[in-house]
Amino acid sequence: MADYPRTAVEFHDWFATEAACRDYLVRLRWPEGVGCPDCGGSEIWFMKAPFYRCSQCGYDFTVTAGTLFADTHKPLRLWFEAIWDVTNQKLGASALGVQRVLGLGSYRTAWNWLHKLRRAMVRPGRDRLAGIVEVDETFIGGPQPGKRGRGAAGKTLVLIAAQVQSHKIGRIRLARIANASAANLERVVRQAIEPQTCIQTDGWVGYSGMTALGYKHEVIRPTAELGENLLPRVNRVASLLKRWLLGTHQGAVGPNHLDYYLDEFTFRFNRRTSRSRGLLFYRLMQQAVALQPILGKALVGGRPLK
Ligand SMILES: [Zn+2]
Repeated sequence: MADYPRTAVEFHDWFATEAACRDYLVRLRWPEGVGCPDCGGSEIWFMKAPFYRCSQCGYDFTVTAGTLFADTHKPLRLWFEAIWDVTNQKLGASALGVQRVLGLGSYRTAWNWLHKLRRAMVRPGRDRLAGIVEVDETFIGGPQPGKRGRGAAGKTLVLIAAQVQSHKIGRIRLARIANASAANLERVVRQAIEPQTCIQTDGWVGYSGMTALGYKHEVIRPTAELGENLLPRVNRVASLLKRWLLGTHQGAVGPNHLDYYLDEFTFRFNRRTSRSRGLLFYRLMQQAVALQPILGKALVGGRPLK
């Protein structure tokens, strides 16, 4: 049985104190018993709460050491509220919304929290798409199509991979790419899609090496024009993504930070049929305690484009 609150009332009952929040993190992080984050030792002394000491290496730590919550100066209860808020809104939360709901003094803090949470939304080692997958690219940040090989000024090219599930869309992967060169497309496809998968594309020359990479390749649209004429599932994902960026975030997403938003969109899209929002909260919590701490500096700079 997954261990998460089902309703807002349960949520507030469960997490009424700092100690209750910490206990929950302990259960998620160390289901087999507390372990030393430094040496992996399992002989742990329980010090004055919230501290533990490793009997092997002498390291003093708390349950938040080495997680997304490390070095936070705010109560865990606020973090839990933020995560509940983010996972319970169908379209996600904006920094301004989180700042208001939590009564945070600074917009910057809310913005930083949301970006940390977006990082936690990408599960390390998540499995790749398989079966039949549509792959195509779209421009974010401008309506007019540009030439694919060159990349267009002021716009960001995003590769969309969408699993075919009868007439529906299965899971998706998104990736920002500098341009639609074969090298970029192949790198992202290899990261996102299992070998042997049947990849459906248009006739763009950048996809011509897919068979050599070990994929089955079907060109289901002969044209190589970009922008207006996307493959059907990719097209639906692209328009939902653009609407979401414009709606929840008012289009205020710079290219350097777009990756985090792509991660959040993917997290939500791939779990859109989850019956319980509490389950989303639980997944994000699990990933948050499995994450290395993220420094503010790394957030502000965005992620380098490979
Ligand atoms: Zn140790």
